[in-house]
Amino acid sequence: MTGNEIRKQFLAFFESKGHKVLPSASLIPDDPQLLFTVAGMVPFKPIFWGKVEPVYTRVATCQKCLRTNDIENVGRTPRHHTFFEMLGNFSFGDYFKKEAILWAWEFVTKVLKLPEEKLWVTIYKDDDEAFMIWRDLVGVPEKKIIRMGKDTNFWGPAGPTGPCGPCSEIHYDTGAADERGEEESTPATDDKRFLEIWNLVFTEFYQDEEGKLHPLPKKNIDTGAGLERVTAVVQGVSSNFETDLFAPIMSRIEEISGVKYKQDPQKDISMRVIADHSRAVSFLIADGVFPSNEERGYVLRRILRRAVRHGVLLGLEKTFLYLVNDAVIEAMKDVYPELAERRQLILEVTKAEEERFFKTIVQGSELLKEIIAKSKDVISGEDLFRLYDTYGFPPDIVIDVAKEKGLKVDLEGFEKLMQAQRERAREARGEVAYAKKTVFEDLAKTIQTKFLGYEKFECQAKVVA
Ligand code: ATP
Ligand code: MG
Ligand code: MG
Ligand code: MG
Repeated sequence: MTGNEIRKQFLAFFESKGHKVLPSASLIPDDPQLLFTVAGMVPFKPIFWGKVEPVYTRVATCQKCLRTNDIENVGRTPRHHTFFEMLGNFSFGDYFKKEAILWAWEFVTKVLKLPEEKLWVTIYKDDDEAFMIWRDLVGVPEKKIIRMGKDTNFWGPAGPTGPCGPCSEIHYDTGAADERGEEESTPATDDKRFLEIWNLVFTEFYQDEEGKLHPLPKKNIDTGAGLERVTAVVQGVSSNFETDLFAPIMSRIEEISGVKYKQDPQKDISMRVIADHSRAVSFLIADGVFPSNEERGYVLRRILRRAVRHGVLLGLEKTFLYLVNDAVIEAMKDVYPELAERRQLILEVTKAEEERFFKTIVQGSELLKEIIAKSKDVISGEDLFRLYDTYGFPPDIVIDVAKEKGLKVDLEGFEKLMQAQRERAREARGEVAYAKKTVFEDLAKTIQTKFLGYEKFECQAKVVA
C-alpha cells in the first residue's frame, strides 16, 4: 500500500463509520495560544473547550502538523519530523472509548493488515476501563497492555484549566531491540524497538483551578496517527525516510548532492534533515509564513537555515534547497493543491533566504572557528550573541557544531543578552512589551506559546507577498 493509499483508506474507513471527512486546516492555527498546528485536534479546540457547538459530531481528517519540540531528533531517529501528517478521528460528545479502541484496532489489523502479534498497547495506569476493553473486547494479551504514568499517558489541559483525560497508544514491535538488547523490553522501556503509531485520547475530565478533575458531561475522542510512521510499518521499512512518501525527495537530494543515501551514516543524517526540513519550509511558505527574526518567521528561518547547513555538510556550495522543495511540491501537490498554487513563491522565497544564508555562513564561520579554538569547555553567551548579532549566525547551528566538538554552550547567558537587546529595541521604538517570550522558547516549545504578534506578522506577510 502506498502512503497516499493509506491516507485515503483511513479517511474512507472512518467515513464508513459515520464520520464527516474534513480537509486539513492551515499550519497556522486561529489560536492565540499556539504558533503552529501541532496535532489534528488543534482546529477543533473551541469544540473541545465547549465554546463552539459542533456541526458534525464525528469527524476524520488528515492534518498538516508542525512540531519544533522534536527538531533535535529529526534525522537522528527514524520516526521524528518537524512537518508531518496526522491522521485522526474525532468524536464530539458522540462515541467514546469502546468505539475508538475497537475501530483503531479494526483499521490497523483489517485494513492495514498489520499482524496482531506485533502490536502492543499502553494505557494510563488508572484506566481500568481501557484495560478491560483492550483485554476483553479486543483480545490483547494482558502482558501486552502496559500501564504508564501521567507524563506519557494522560493528556493534560493546554493551560491551567480545561478538558483533559487519559490516553492509550498503539505501538508496533519493529523487532530492532536497542543497545541494551533486553529481551523482556516493552514500549515503556524501549522506544527503539517499539514504535508509537497511534494515540487515542479520551477527553473525559475537566480540570479546575485547584487541579481537581470533574467528569465532563460530554466526553470526546481525539486520536492521532502519524501517516509517515504508519506507512513505514505497512511498507516494512525501518525508517519513515525510506517510505514511498519520501522516495522522490530523497532521490532529488541524491541527484543534487551527488551523495548516495546509506553510504555514510553522518551524511545520511544530513540527507534526512534536508528531506524533512524541505517539507516544513515548503508547507510553511504555502501557508503564508516568511523568513524573519520573529515568531513564526523565525522558526521558518531556523528550519530553512538548518537544512542549508546540512547541505554544506554534504559538500554543497550554492543554493539547492529550493530544488528539493520542487520535488516536495511535485510529490505532494495532488493532495495539497496549495503547493502548486504557490509554487513560484515557495521557490523564490527559499532561494532568496538561502542566498542570504550562504553569505552569512561564509562570513560567520571564520569567527566561529576562532571562537571554537579559544573556548575550553563552553562557548560563552557573549560569543554566541556576537555571532548572531553580527552575522545572523543561528545559535542552533553553533549548538550543533559545539556538540560535534564536545563543547557546551551557555544558552542562558546568550538569552540574557538577547532579552536586553530586545528591550533596547523596544524602548527605541517606544513600544510596550507585547510578549514575554524568548527565542529559545521558540526553539523548544511550540505548544502553549503565547503568540501576540499576529498583526505584525500579517502586515509583513502582505508586504512580502
Ligand atoms: P513520540 O513519543 O514518538 O514523540 P508523541 O507521543 O509525542 O510521539 P503524539 O503527541 O501522541 O506523539 O501524536 C500522535 C501521533 O503523531 C504519534 O503517535 C505519532 O504517530 C505521530 N507523531 C508525533 N510526533 C511526531 C513527529 N515529530 N514526527 C512524526 N510523527 C509524529
Ligand atoms: Mg513527542
Ligand atoms: Mg509518545
Ligand atoms: Mg503519544
